[in-house]
Amino acid sequence: MPKQYKNLINGEMVESGEWLDVVNPANEQVIGQVPACGKDDLDRAVAAARTAFKTWKNSSFEERQAACMAISATIKENADELFRLLTSEQGKPHDQAKGEIYGAAGLAAAQSTLKLDDVIVEDSDTRFHRTRRVPVGVVGGIVPWNFPIMMGIQKIVPALMSGCTIVLKPSPFTPLTTLRIAELIADKVPPGTVNIITGEDSLGPLITSHPDIDKITFTGSTATGKKIMEGASADLKRITLELGGNDASIVLPDADPKKVAEQLFWSSFTNAGQICVAAKRIYIHEDIYDELSQAIADYAKTVKVGDGSEQGTGVGPIQNKKQYERVLELIQDAKDNGYKFLTGGDKDPSGSGYYVPITILDNPPEDARIVAEEQFGPVMPLMKFSTEEEVIQRANNSDYGLAGAVWTGNPDKGVEIAEQLETGTVWINEYLHLSPFAPFGGHKQSGFGSEYGLDGLKEFTYAQVISVRKDNVPA
Ligand code: NAD
Repeated sequence: MPKQYKNLINGEMVESGEWLDVVNPANEQVIGQVPACGKDDLDRAVAAARTAFKTWKNSSFEERQAACMAISATIKENADELFRLLTSEQGKPHDQAKGEIYGAAGLAAAQSTLKLDDVIVEDSDTRFHRTRRVPVGVVGGIVPWNFPIMMGIQKIVPALMSGCTIVLKPSPFTPLTTLRIAELIADKVPPGTVNIITGEDSLGPLITSHPDIDKITFTGSTATGKKIMEGASADLKRITLELGGNDASIVLPDADPKKVAEQLFWSSFTNAGQICVAAKRIYIHEDIYDELSQAIADYAKTVKVGDGSEQGTGVGPIQNKKQYERVLELIQDAKDNGYKFLTGGDKDPSGSGYYVPITILDNPPEDARIVAEEQFGPVMPLMKFSTEEEVIQRANNSDYGLAGAVWTGNPDKGVEIAEQLETGTVWINEYLHLSPFAPFGGHKQSGFGSEYGLDGLKEFTYAQVISVRKDNVPA
């Protein structure tokens, strides 16, 4: 009998009657069960959040910060248990799981310093005019399976810091570590402020359309994001959407292939490529294309694909069967079209576990599915370009606009190109760095609004303007 993990509602760990199996993607074994919640469970969680909101909305900055710091400390104190559990349900190698757990604890601590001060726009003889931020109310948080803890924390912490309460739904594929954290923080935050419930995808639309939820903060695919926007329109819920990406990296001819090959590899293959901001299209200048593509392929051959709990694994399995089949389909399409592979593509995966060999394509055409679509797997197309103008146009030729990167010996030139890219973040000579104090969000169909920093915090609030006429007191 697999271990059963309960939900957190109103400060208590509860069951719902029905259970969902959770599978380890490294071996397809069931490793846990979680409640399969429906409307009644959701109603209970929302009612708890609504009741808690009446008090929490008036909490002080210090009370909010103390709750978030307690979450941060709890995650850190239990990191050893948590990162192992995360690897077993998500698939990522132990060192990357450790990075996510400590990263989430650090993010909680950093974001608990964020404060939205009142803004005084007029203080004259006749008028005192002040803008304050008030919490929107009960938040519904919906999280994907690639970074379940990071994404959960980046919704819970700003909700609490703004004075909101939250009902969070992890992905049905990766709910275990989140529920273990729920158990650990249950007596460390006021009852009802943080509620965590699990269920199938069908629980998502119930959250989106719930009449007593005021805001949705969602991370996941663009397709689901569009459904959420539609569902939230019925009662004009506030929404923040962090969606998919097809990020381009541009390597200029002055970048030393020996210095960038390994970094480019990991910008694509960390978390088996299942990162919204992973480099999914790499454009290399023709002068260094042959040398750099060979250096990346040579490095790839040194990286072990396998069970994330085994020492030395660099790339784990794909997280779930549906995504595994989608990635294999994209590789098959590339084979069917006769595109050239530098690594991968030639061997079929066998045995249990959702493993895909590291797959690097050699200059496929721009309209290849593997280039035009978000792969979300250990697959990277390398493409040749000749001029800056051409590569900027190709990089921007996407409905997505999440992030991108420029690699160059001349950082000023990198910035010049970055300013012409239509994305929310552009890195120069680095990758995957997010500051807790800068807005993170997508342009175009990669998102709506932003998370992180004061911009992200503001999305959990309404502006309220209070205007006092000093020379017109009717008394
Ligand atoms: P998904 O959209 O399938 O699921 C995300 C969450 O939404 C899950 O909790 C799921 O149960 C829930 N859900 C599913 N259908 C729903 C509906 N109709 N209404 C409400 N909720 C619903 O995404 P995924 O496959 O879990 O994650 C992969 C995608 O997430 C990729 O496209 C990736 O780029 C994106 N992503 C984006 C970011 C970002 O910050 N921009 C970060 C991570 C992942």
